[in-house]
Amino acid sequence: PWQYSPAPEARELADLKANYRMFVDGEFIDGTGEPFISTNPATEETLAEVSGASESDVDRAVAAARAAFERTWGPMPGSERAKYLFRIARLIQERGRELAVLETLDNGKPIKESRDADIPTAAAHFFHHAGWADKLDHAGHGAHPRPLGVAGQVIPWNFPLLMLAWKIAPALACGNTVVLKPAETTPLTALVFAEICEQAGLPAGVVNIVTGAGDIGAEIVAHDDVDKVAFTGSTEVGKRIQRTLAGSGRKLTLELGGKAANIVFDDAPIDQAVEGVVNGIFFNQGHVCCAGSRLLVQESIAEELLGKLRSRVSTLQVGDPLDKNTDVGAINSADQLARITELADTGESEGARRWSSPCPLPERGFFFAPTVFSEVQQSMRIAREEVFGPVLSVLTFRTPEEAIAKANNTPYGLSAGVWTEKGSRILWAAQQIRAGVVWANTFNRFDPTAPFGGYQESGFGREGGRAGLEAYLDV
Ligand code: NAD
Repeated sequence: PWQYSPAPEARELADLKANYRMFVDGEFIDGTGEPFISTNPATEETLAEVSGASESDVDRAVAAARAAFERTWGPMPGSERAKYLFRIARLIQERGRELAVLETLDNGKPIKESRDADIPTAAAHFFHHAGWADKLDHAGHGAHPRPLGVAGQVIPWNFPLLMLAWKIAPALACGNTVVLKPAETTPLTALVFAEICEQAGLPAGVVNIVTGAGDIGAEIVAHDDVDKVAFTGSTEVGKRIQRTLAGSGRKLTLELGGKAANIVFDDAPIDQAVEGVVNGIFFNQGHVCCAGSRLLVQESIAEELLGKLRSRVSTLQVGDPLDKNTDVGAINSADQLARITELADTGESEGARRWSSPCPLPERGFFFAPTVFSEVQQSMRIAREEVFGPVLSVLTFRTPEEAIAKANNTPYGLSAGVWTEKGSRILWAAQQIRAGVVWANTFNRFDPTAPFGGYQESGFGREGGRAGLEAYLDV
């Protein structure tokens, strides 16, 4: 397994580049749009200046991807594509320390999470998909899978490199080429990834990274020469993209928001459940589409569980994301902090009981204390809307049927958790809950072999495993 030596030294931080350029047709270029600043959310200091794309840069990137699809990548045998993907996976591991530090600086997430989750899982996705590349040339039974062509991909800021891996690895394994836009608040690891593509000798134009805000994402999505669009982000933007593509015949996958229920039954191993509930909502500051943001606890154990939960949350260390003891880092942006603050305030005004961890918060930077709302009713905004922050809403239930009804009382359907000793109840609940992933006695477990994706307003299409390949192939 990959080894990491912790505590990034000052020298390494000073070595980070001050300027990041976008990557088009195998070259790092200054975009013709407005450059923008990426900020360290834990200090509010400028981290880097990033070149900004314009419409003509998007055109250039799409043309480069088209040419690469026709001339190099599309015709290449899967066994050859696999070699590049394996090389990329190994380079992510080799540069893992640098990527972890950069991700933490740009995003605000704790170093122990970028070090142990984001970066190794990103590498794992390339390893997994490298293994698929040569198995896709022939599907058997006379079926012949074909890549779609140019994939336009737009990703959010919560898992910048990992979301890139979820998008780029399957696209390339299947023989597609890519134009990807990272989120404007977290573009840096995507541009280091571009260096990795260069290091791996990937042919020019196979991967293009353009940087900019939502308008550039919209240009990619609407581009006539893009064959497939993959988007992860807010439900609002996802719906807009779906309208843009309606009738175009182009393929679309959407991975949007969620309001997952984490259901704790009265027979659950309670200490283990408390750990799972804490991980479910406070991992990555709650900036997780599948976060367990609604705790549904059986009434008979609610008081005991809440007590244990509050004492456990009180021990979470909130602060400097580069400190390897930090459990909860910085909120990614001032805008997101404002959204969380506003929504949490509605919890109080609508009558829920607010409790926040008494932990001290740093004076500078965007921080929000881990917060638990009890006495939450289903009609309250904090029970219905995605907060995308470290805010847990606690509801109670009496019977298993009531738990399922409450879990399903949401327009979303991405994930859920079930805590119980009864195997039969796990199987029953997994059938009853309308969600793409149901975890049992665990939460937030990701594996490149397992498909991930949602129902209803959480989007459609799957990422990961065999099912994830379907998004990038025609048969
Ligand atoms: P967003 O959907 O606005 O942004 C996500 C990505 O889409 C970014 O790269 C952005 O530049 C791009 N984008 C924005 N407008 C676009 C458009 N019209 N066409 C194409 N691309 C466009 O999300 P946000 O503003 O970063 O966050 C807002 C809310 O979205 C959060 O509070 C959270 O609820 C939700 N969110 C969900 C996820 C998820 O993983 N499901 C991730 C991030 C945010």
